[in-house]
Amino acid sequence: MAEKMIAAVYQGVQQIDIKVVDKPQLHPGKVLIKVSYAGICGSDMGIYFGKHPRAKAPLIMGHEITGEIVETSLPEGAKIKVGDRVTVNPLISCGQCLPCQTGNAHVCRNLGLVGIDTDGGFAEFVAVDADKVVKIPEHLPLDTACLVEPLAVSVHAVRKSAYKTGDTVVILGGGPIGLLTAITARYAGASQVVICEVSQSRKALASSLGFTVVDANDKPEEEILNLTNGNGADVVFEAAGVPDTAALATQIVKITGQVVVVGVFKRPALVDLQVVNFRELSLIGTRVYTPQDYQVAVNMLVKDKSISRVISHRLPLEQVQKGFDLMLKSEDSMKILLYP
Ligand SMILES: [Zn+2]
Ligand SMILES: [Zn+2]
Repeated sequence: MAEKMIAAVYQGVQQIDIKVVDKPQLHPGKVLIKVSYAGICGSDMGIYFGKHPRAKAPLIMGHEITGEIVETSLPEGAKIKVGDRVTVNPLISCGQCLPCQTGNAHVCRNLGLVGIDTDGGFAEFVAVDADKVVKIPEHLPLDTACLVEPLAVSVHAVRKSAYKTGDTVVILGGGPIGLLTAITARYAGASQVVICEVSQSRKALASSLGFTVVDANDKPEEEILNLTNGNGADVVFEAAGVPDTAALATQIVKITGQVVVVGVFKRPALVDLQVVNFRELSLIGTRVYTPQDYQVAVNMLVKDKSISRVISHRLPLEQVQKGFDLMLKSEDSMKILLYP
């Protein structure tokens, strides 16, 4: 009989149950991780509400995973061994398509993710491909290291943008990705980082981390132009993924500036392309991260202890429902971690 474990299993729209399930099998090329923490992501909410195009119940979600290797299928002397503290790069690329073959496996035509297309980390154990495991330095706590994945999204956005040291940056949206993007821009030497957000608690957190905060409900356009001598920002990162901020983005960026789409839009947004044209703006999209972005994120977390303040809750796995309920209340939560 297969060994058993506890897991939070997505069973259908708005239904997640704590269940006893088979412990994952260790196929060749895989390692087994005993999960320490797994973060709840916005995309998990999409699955929860039955809106994700690929995720199918029953599924164990969770792609922001840290833990310890407890079993490997690798030969003696391999780089990854039992006892290693690790996180996981959850991207599953096909290796065959044009993007994969031209150095862009992160935007693979058939891109999948651990925790969406295969079982993930909301469980006691998860099995992943050995080459997707990223070691965590000894002095980096495993809860903080859960931020590597979302931070890598921000690192990728900043590295892919036209951003240069000394630039003025505006971030639309002060949720986990917005705040991590602000932290990354500052880490990269921004002269000013402004966060535009609606939630009181998120604004308070952003300002306690030293960022200039603008109320998204109170003429943000005017205030951002005031803060930038009427010129607008060099680079605007849209990290809210909602139509209102998409429209705002092109109004608060300087002439010849850049708008970077980081937030995931669930429905189309109206963007005035005449503004893009007349003001010679550039508009780019960024999606997930490269392996190098992952390593930069690990290094940033080692150097900047304050990043862990993005974590608002650490809940036992049994309270997964509470975690998902809290995710809906931007006033009460930022990054929520579950631990089995
Ligand atoms: Zn995520
Ligand atoms: Zn591919």
